Amino acid sequence: MDKILDIKDLHVSFVTYGGEVQAVRGVNLELYKGETLAIVGESGCGKSVTANSIMKLIPSPPGKIKHGSIHFKGKDMTKLSNKEVRKIRGVDISMIFQDPMTALNPTLTIGDQLTEGIKQHRKISAKQANHHAIDMLKLVGIPNPDERMKQYPHQFSGGMRQRIVIAMALICEPELLIADEPTTALDVTIQAQILQLFQKIQRETGVSIILITHDLGIVAKVANRIAVMYAGKVIETGTRQEIFYHPNHPYTQGLLNSVPRLDQKGERLIPIDGTPPDLFAPPEGCPFTARCPKAMEVCSRIYPFQTELSQTHAVECWLQDERAKKYIASS
Ligand code: SF4
Ligand code: MG
Repeated sequence: MDKILDIKDLHVSFVTYGGEVQAVRGVNLELYKGETLAIVGESGCGKSVTANSIMKLIPSPPGKIKHGSIHFKGKDMTKLSNKEVRKIRGVDISMIFQDPMTALNPTLTIGDQLTEGIKQHRKISAKQANHHAIDMLKLVGIPNPDERMKQYPHQFSGGMRQRIVIAMALICEPELLIADEPTTALDVTIQAQILQLFQKIQRETGVSIILITHDLGIVAKVANRIAVMYAGKVIETGTRQEIFYHPNHPYTQGLLNSVPRLDQKGERLIPIDGTPPDLFAPPEGCPFTARCPKAMEVCSRIYPFQTELSQTHAVECWLQDERAKKYIASS
């Protein structure tokens, strides 16, 4: 499979009056053509910062990519000028955020907003742009698209607005779509419909998708692979099956125990006690130590190496690492 995105050893910090927040601390991620990768973790774990780094959307100052590379189709996004990134943004890579209202202009019709993007980036007539916009509205399941093109955002429900935002993001046929908590503002039934829509879009357009969420439950159906983030690090990656049926990291196990599962009716949900560490002064060792029911002496001192459990499944936890014994013995 073709790799379209390759993030290597990414470090991103924010300098504040209180000190430097190390929001992303050595993230490695890959994305293959046509797949959906879910990045999952609690708020503040660095998932949005990672996604925003891809698009060079880290406000600087206070933010800064301190180290690492982000190759998109062979080009290192971290090395491109703002002008070069603008050519990629919205065309090759599109992004969708949680609140559809902030992405829509209340004073313009849906039709004007949809065609604006494509007219900016492609040499096409107004009529062609219109046709294309109507096709996009059909793709995202807006009924009577011809009529709806003339309406304003307030004339649509929240779920419909998010569909329109998705249509806008897709209008230039991007190769990568990044959706940051795209269903969090919606009620549960609408959430499910929007997630199904992502699957349909992927089938029909072949777009690669990064889906960012704090809710492991919602990715159970749509993700091909899952990366679990904690305290600025990717602590476990695997296929959906590996993460749901063979979760290895105690944090991933904790996350799974805290979401309702369709296949385990009646099981009690157990929240993970405690809070993530302060990223002004992240711990030297495993950042989950203070909350981990299986923590060992070595955990708080040394960050665990990555262990590959299969070709697709990797974890950063001492429990899986033979070398843990050696570190305990020699300490
Ligand atoms: Fe728990 Fe240690 Fe594994 Fe961290 S490295 S998750 S503290 S067992
Ligand atoms: Mg976020």
